[in-house]
Formats: sequence, C-alpha cells, structure tokens
Amino acid sequence: MSERVKKVEEDFLAYTKKMEDYGQALSLLAWDARTGAPKKGIQQRSEVIGTLSSDLFQLSTSEEMAGYLGELRDESAQAHLSEITKKSVAECHKEFERNLKIPKDEYKEYVMLQSQSESVWEEAKNKADFEMFRPNLEKLVEFKKRFVGYLGHNGNPYNTLLDDFEPGVFVDTIDKVFGELRDQLIPLVKGVTESSHQPRTDFLFKKFPRENQQALSKDILKEIGYDFGAGRLDETVHPFAIGINPNDVRVTTKYNEDDFRVSLFGTIHEGGHALYEQNISQDLIGTPLCSGTSMGIHESQSLFWEKFVGKNYGFWERNYDLLKKNSSGQFDDISLEDFYFAVNQSKPSLIRIESDELTYCLHIILRYELEKALMQGEIEVRDLPHLWNEKMEEYLGIKPEHDGEGVLQDVHWSFGAFGYFPSYALGYIYSAQLKEALVKDLPNFDELIRTGEYAPIRQWMTDNVHQYGKMKKPAEIIKDITGGGIDSKPLVRYLEEKYRRLYKF
Ligand code: ZN
Repeated sequence: MSERVKKVEEDFLAYTKKMEDYGQALSLLAWDARTGAPKKGIQQRSEVIGTLSSDLFQLSTSEEMAGYLGELRDESAQAHLSEITKKSVAECHKEFERNLKIPKDEYKEYVMLQSQSESVWEEAKNKADFEMFRPNLEKLVEFKKRFVGYLGHNGNPYNTLLDDFEPGVFVDTIDKVFGELRDQLIPLVKGVTESSHQPRTDFLFKKFPRENQQALSKDILKEIGYDFGAGRLDETVHPFAIGINPNDVRVTTKYNEDDFRVSLFGTIHEGGHALYEQNISQDLIGTPLCSGTSMGIHESQSLFWEKFVGKNYGFWERNYDLLKKNSSGQFDDISLEDFYFAVNQSKPSLIRIESDELTYCLHIILRYELEKALMQGEIEVRDLPHLWNEKMEEYLGIKPEHDGEGVLQDVHWSFGAFGYFPSYALGYIYSAQLKEALVKDLPNFDELIRTGEYAPIRQWMTDNVHQYGKMKKPAEIIKDITGGGIDSKPLVRYLEEKYRRLYKF
C-alpha cells in the first residue's frame, strides 16, 4: 500500500511542479506587461497569456488531477503523506472543485462581462454617472449570486466570496471585529477633526528631486532587509510587489516630485509584501503553497513595515538627516517633531486610496456592509449611491458631491471582486495584533528601529509568518502567535494612543 502511495505522491508533486512552472511564467509576463513592455507587443502577449492560462486551467481540472486527488485524499493514503503533500492536495482539491462547479459557458459570459464592465465603469466614473454603470453592476451581482449558488455556502452567502481572499475567515467574525472597530474609530476621527492642534504640512509638497527619491527608496529597501540579489526595483503607475518565487520577488514604486511620501512610504509598503515572499521556506518552491496565505496576511506585512516601522518616531530619529540631505532644503527649519506630526496627519478623505491609517478602515467597513447587504438581497444595486453617501457622512463626517468621488471611485466591483475589500482592513487588524505579540518577544522594538537593526524583527516575522507560505491559514497564524482569535483591540489601542497624543485631545 505505502509503496503505491509513494509513487502516486511523487507523480502528483511532479505534476504540481509543472503547474507552478506555468504559474511562474504567467507571473513574469504579468510583471513585464506592467513595467514597460512595448505597446506594439500587446496583442501577441495577450495570446501567450491566454494559451498558458488555459493550459493551466486544463491541468488543474484534468482527469489526471482527478485521479491524484481521488487516491491521495483517501484516508488510508493520507496517513503516509508528508505535511506539504497533504496541504498541497487540499489546495488543489479546492481549486478543482471551484473550477468545475461553475458551468463553463456561464463563466465565459462572466469573463466577457468583466472585461466590458471595466471600461464602462471608467467612463461612468469620469462622468460621475452611476446610471451608466448600473446595468453592468446588476449583472455582475447576479452572476456572483449564482456562482455562490453553484459553489454552495456555509451560513452566510458572503462567506463563499470571502473564501477567495481570506480562507477560513467568516462573516460572523468580521461583523464582530469590524463593528467594534467602527464604533471606536468614529469618535476618534471626530476628535482629530475637531482638535485645534493641527500639523503644518506645506513643506511635504515642495520639490523633491526624483533621482534622490530613487536613491532613498533603494537605501531604505536595503535597510529593511529586502534582498536585491533576489529582486529588483522598477517604476510603474500603480506600484506593486510580485513574487515569482522566493528567489525572485520584484517591487515597483512611483516617484512624485511634489510629494516624496508617495515613493517613500509606497516603497516601504511594497517592500513589506516582498519580504514576506522572499522569506517563504525554500521547501515550498514548486508546490501550490509557495505564496502568501491570504490577501489580509499579505497586507498585514506591508502595513507592518509601512506603519509600525516607517512611521515609528525612532525611524525618523535615525533617517531624518538622510531625508534632509536628499531633499532640496524644505526641511531645514522644520523640527523632527513637526515633521513627524506632518507625516502622520489624519484628515477624513472622500477617496479611500488617499486616506490615512486612522480613517482607512472606515472606508473598508462601509464597502463591506454594502457588499454583504447586496449579496444577502437586503438592498439593490440602485440603492448603493444614497446608502454610500449616508454612511460616508455617518462614519467620516463628509459627503461626496457626486458619485465619481463616491460609490464609483474604486475599480474592484467592475471586475466582480466582491469579498476582496475586507482583506484590507483585516490587514490593519492583523498587523497590530502581530506588532503587540512581537513587542512581547522583542521589548526593545523601538530601540531596534532607532538603530536600524531590523534583522531580529524580520527574523520574528519569518519564524511566525513568512516561512509557512500557505501551510497555515490566516486564523491559524493569528492563533499560533497570539493564542486567541482575530481581534481589533490592538489596532484600536495603537490608534487611540497615537492620535490622542499627536492631536492633544
Ligand atoms: Zn499592499
């Protein structure tokens, strides 16, 4: 028996290795397409991507895959398998089910609707015309509801959507942590807005030479421990990090000469994503487990470096002189305290991607509440604009003048990404939970940052998060580190302490 299982296991691992090779080729093509591939090559490149993607889809749903899953999911076989194989089997099985349960024709129709909707959305957003986008959005929501019907759901239908991005995290948990967070954040935002103590920020928007920003971005990536031997830094309109495999993890950023914060904090953010991918165990290469475990845990890593390191006072005690040296003199008469207050400014914004760490989660909670109500059939697509505006006013005290800066602002719904937004706020929540746990093990955390000794911090993250890739689910990572569940209290504690101190209320 075990001889037979051993052989099937070997064949299965060779098969998933082949799938991963396809995946790596596709990732590299995606990186290339977003970092300055020649425009004339778009047609050929999309054809190559189409061919490889459909081959990969075939591999994931083939008779051969069905055979492996049938044999290796058998209880008697499981006892003989390594942990890596067992988890790989589970991952492939999930993918297999998902790909086969949705009828092919319907899925094809959906993909066509997706690509059409993105340009409709763009035009509707520019014209601030929700009615123009409404028919597409209604169809997308209908498709999603039907897909949930095919896939089945555990409790709330929204759970099935969450499963794509945050496996194992369910609506009841999110309702609880988001509800608590919302109720704590609203008065805090009000306190900040009404405080008479506001930062001076004009010096943030003075010209900061682009070459100097480039040099600074490189230095800071090196300092936090990003391995340039296993990566590179390029420039794009929409910055991102992409893990092809742990030995090839690439980062992009963008430079704005009138606002150095975009590249500086953006690079640290993407660097955080990259550190995660670079430090996944090499044993997982070639398996379906060799990437971050969820969108939320990924975001916890980028946010940890961006917020808890890059916006730590000690970080600026160490790096303010370096920044001054690279700038064109705008900080010369600005004290470190004033600079620190300025880069931590909080101000309610209508636009999610322009918001700060204090107000950000409220933008997400608003979207989550609307998405969930849509999926449960409690509201209709046509209700979205006014509900959006009401919630903006209730949560942030500001109201959009038109739908272009309201319900139409984000691209996500135009490609059917429902269930994705919660990951962003979960990332904040996780990062604060990780930070509290980390400080228990490394009580000299602030000192380490002040002296630029990031190795112990990175090692802690590698030991507790990075190395596992997809071997552990998000809730398992949080439980193993904190001994408890997903909890918004550490984030609230952090924000309360920081913003009451900065804004003196
Ligand atoms: Zn991110």
